[in-house]
Amino acid sequence: MIGKLIVSGFQDLLNLFYPNPCLLCQDSLQQSEEIICTACRLQLPETGQHRGEALIDGQTKFAGKVPVEFVYAYLYFTKRGKTQRLIHALKYRGNKEVGNLLGRWYGNQLKTDIHLNDHIDLIVGVPLHPAKLRQRGYNQSDWIAQGLSQALDIPWSDRILTRNRNTISQTGKDRMGRWENVSNVFQISDPDLVTNKRILLVDDVLTTGATLEACTAALLASNSQSVGIITAAATR
Ligand SMILES: [Zn+2]
Repeated sequence: MIGKLIVSGFQDLLNLFYPNPCLLCQDSLQQSEEIICTACRLQLPETGQHRGEALIDGQTKFAGKVPVEFVYAYLYFTKRGKTQRLIHALKYRGNKEVGNLLGRWYGNQLKTDIHLNDHIDLIVGVPLHPAKLRQRGYNQSDWIAQGLSQALDIPWSDRILTRNRNTISQTGKDRMGRWENVSNVFQISDPDLVTNKRILLVDDVLTTGATLEACTAALLASNSQSVGIITAAATR
């Protein structure tokens, strides 16, 4: 305990002389700021999607495939933009905390603006392929899920939705073949834990939606009441 206090006191002292730089602009962070400075935060390209301001119609991606309650992305993803740099830090530079931060920031908006917390029972991240998880050491979607969980005060789990070694291949398969293939990839470890539950499914970036579609199908097959989707970013 005392050792810890000394270390944390030493860290404060270090921060005084060498404050952490903002991940995006390298300016020194103020004590109340974490990872990203307020100026950069205000410039993040938020979609405003949950308030109906979006230019992305996420639900169209899933239309006729799986029923989803809602699809919200926090930020627009543009090449070489701020969002890309954040996602890059989260996925390839070991900066897990970025995921937690984005999850918390968006979770607070979703709680204040649309009371999303009243409509969700459980949060799950899209699982990584086991080989990728071993290589990266963590699942970035779980870190976003954890941040959302903290802000919305809803439990999350990285155990319930699991992924095996198969990959999703969709080329040259008819619809039934595709479902068969996809149902081999994601599994629910304990179906009782999702039965009649309203699930919030979380991923880092919304692209084709194929993986999210497969996860949604697995959850609904285990009798989840509903599935809604949130991603940290989406292409316009
Ligand atoms: Zn900054």
